[in-house]
Amino acid sequence: MPRYEFRCRSCGDTFEVSRPMSQSSAPADCPSGHTDTVKLLSTVAVGSTAGSGGASAPAAGGGGGGCCGGGCCG
Ligand SMILES: [Zn+2]
Repeated sequence: MPRYEFRCRSCGDTFEVSRPMSQSSAPADCPSGHTDTVKLLSTVAVGSTAGSGGASAPAAGGGGGGCCGGGCCG
């Protein structure tokens, strides 16, 4: 099941949600209970060609270029 990264606009926290792709655009509440969240373009490389997609490769360590790629560095 792919994981989607969200960011809470109320507290600024980021969190991941595992959900089916059919619900990828559904809203998610932040762990603190806020509902004002936005979905980020995150490390969703799971599920297309990986087959069963059970083993999660620990590739995302925080330096994967997600920030500059999203434009939040500029
Ligand atoms: Zn929040």
